[in-house]
Order: sequence, then structure tokens, then C-alpha cells
Amino acid sequence: TAAPLGHSVIPIVNKLQDIFAQLGSQSAIELPQVAVVGSQSSGKSSVLEALVGRDFLPRGSDICTRRPLVLQLLQTKRKPDGTEEEYGEFLHLPGKRFYDFSDIRREIQAETDREAGGNKGVSDKQIRLKIFSPNVLDITLVDLPGITKVPVGDQPSDIEARIRTMIMSYIRRESCLILAVTPANSDLANSDALQIAGNADPDGHRTIGIITKLDIMDRGTDARNLLLGKVIPLRLGYVGVVNRSQEDIMLNRSIKDALVAEEKFFRSRPVYNGLADRCGVPQLAKKLNQILVQHIKAILPGLKSRISSALVSVAKEHASYGEITESKAGQGALLLNILSKYSEAFSSMVEGKNEEMSTS
Ligand code: GDP
Ligand code: MG
Repeated sequence: TAAPLGHSVIPIVNKLQDIFAQLGSQSAIELPQVAVVGSQSSGKSSVLEALVGRDFLPRGSDICTRRPLVLQLLQTKRKPDGTEEEYGEFLHLPGKRFYDFSDIRREIQAETDREAGGNKGVSDKQIRLKIFSPNVLDITLVDLPGITKVPVGDQPSDIEARIRTMIMSYIRRESCLILAVTPANSDLANSDALQIAGNADPDGHRTIGIITKLDIMDRGTDARNLLLGKVIPLRLGYVGVVNRSQEDIMLNRSIKDALVAEEKFFRSRPVYNGLADRCGVPQLAKKLNQILVQHIKAILPGLKSRISSALVSVAKEHASYGEITESKAGQGALLLNILSKYSEAFSSMVEGKNEEMSTS
């Protein structure tokens, strides 16, 4: 499958989000996320979809992604009888489960239109979607509108600046991994993706270069030097991918078929021999996971101290309840309980006791 790796680190971080939300200090914590950046139609949504392994994002040769889509993947357990259940749920439609992923795509489009209008308008108001599946990596992905230069439709004259500001608001966070997407059939030196990623992450410790459209490069050219970092070096390196073309989309070609085709593409081109660790969506998933584990490990001490201080303030609040209603006191006790549990989990992770953490 496209995203074969799962691990136990991020569920704890996602839980944290819930805990902090209960504490009413949602923004007190910056969670690791993965955001895609690049120019319009570079293949950002295609890459995210391939990583998730399901078809559900609006993609196409025109502007499709017009609002930030915050996509929280949550790994669920396979049912005892072996069957699996995958569904999506939007924040703006609580309780409604989408089992048909093309309905998810339609709802993203409808909700985009509701906020940003039907005529190519762009809005920075998020769409939040959770996907529950036994097959996903527990991770939050952000699909962002691409950088455009010339206003079309209802777009304001300063569309480029607005989109850049919107993108920066996500990728400037230290806790955001950046997938900088550049199509192989354009000049890497002109890459909007690398340019904006470079602004947000000058030393490149959280930027992965992704080269898309390897299948439609000019005859006689290849991406070997790009992937080797010989054109523009990138600390975390590059991964080359082949996603579905517009024709594949129109023919409803499945992700599974696309992955098989991608593998065949790399296998049949000697120029990519020896670059197996930089080629293909499964390699990207693998690399991402490794980087993510390291990344989370690095920010754990900070998170831990935030939990501790939140714990202290909850304890104080709890003490100040005095004779207030039982239910309120009960809530406080519950919260304390949850917080101490996660605090312990964090301690053991920081100390490296969690075997899931010692990847690579
Ligand atoms: P975004 O605007 O960056 O999100 O780009 P999309 O994912 O919507 O893709 C834009 C267009 O490029 C769509 O028509 C895709 O089918 C096409 N596309 C994306 N990746 C590839 C690729 O690797 N090869 C080919 N041939 N087409 C691609
Ligand atoms: Mg897109």
C-alpha cells in the first residue's frame, strides 16, 4: 500500500491536542504537521493523496485547492473479523461519516465554494477533515493552495502575496515539515516551492524536496541530478514521484494502479537504477516517517514541560473549585488523570524507553 508505515508516537501528540483543547488553550501547542507547498498544478494534492492511499482530494489542471485543508489521519484498529472500515468526518459536519471517498471530494468542493465562492476565489479559512482508517499513518497533513502569479476569476490583484502569507502561516512553524513540490518539467532554479520553503526553513532541516511529473520530462532529460541534490542541495534530500496524469484522473485510474505504474516506470529506466531510496511514493512515506520520528523526538522535551505546567495550572484550578458542583470537580479529576498519564508517556519517550521511537 501507499502509506505502509504506522507508529505509536503521533497518537499521543494528537491526544495532546484534545487535552489542550479541553484546557481551553488550543494554540498553546504547536503540533508536528506536514504541509505541501509549491506552485499551482505542481502536483501537491496528488502527492498527498498518494501518501494517504485514497482518492478524495480535488485535483486538476486548474486551481482546485482554494482553502487550506487540514487533514488529520487517524489509525483505527482492524475489526476482529478482518474487515476494515475507512471513513472521513468534517469538522463543519460533526457526526456525519463519509464512507464514500468521492463524496468527501464533493464535500470539499462544496465547502470550498461556500466560503470562497464558485469563481476561483481563495480563502484562508481552513477546512478540517479527519480520516479514520486502519491503513494510515497517524499524522496531520495540510493541503494548501498553490502559488499563482496572475489573478483570475474573483481573485484579488494581490493574490500572490495573499497566498504566500497563507502558506507562510503554516510552514513557518518549527513543528511543520515542508514537502516542497516542484514538477520535473520546470526549472528547479525557478521553483516557488524551494523559494518559499527556504524562507520558512533557511537551513533546510525540515524541508523535503519532491520532484513530480518525472514521466513527462523533455525527451533526453532525466531527474537524476535533481534527485542527487546536484542542482540545488537540500539537507533532507529529494524524492521523485510519478502521480496520475490528468488523463488518468479522467479515466478514473485507481491509486493502486498508479502505484504499480510508478514502480514500473522506475524499474524500466536504467538512469534511476541505484537511486531506489529516492524514487517513488512508498519511499517518500518511509522517509517522511523516519524524519517525523526524529522531529518529534527533538520537540518532546518542550511539549513535556508544557504539559507539566498545564498540569500545575489544572491542579490549582481544581483546588480553587472548593465546593463547586460535583460534575465540575469530577471533570477536573478526570483531566488530571489524563494529563498525568500522558505526562508519563512523554517522559518515557523522552528517555527513549518507547521502542517505537528507536527507528533507524
Ligand atoms: P496541485 O495544484 O499542486 O495540487 O496539483 P494537482 O495534484 O491538482 O495536479 C495538477 C495536475 O497535474 C493534475 O492534472 C494531475 O493529474 C497532474 N499531475 C500531478 N502529478 C503528476 C505526475 O507525476 N505526472 C503527470 N503526468 N501528471 C501529474
Ligand atoms: Mg491542490
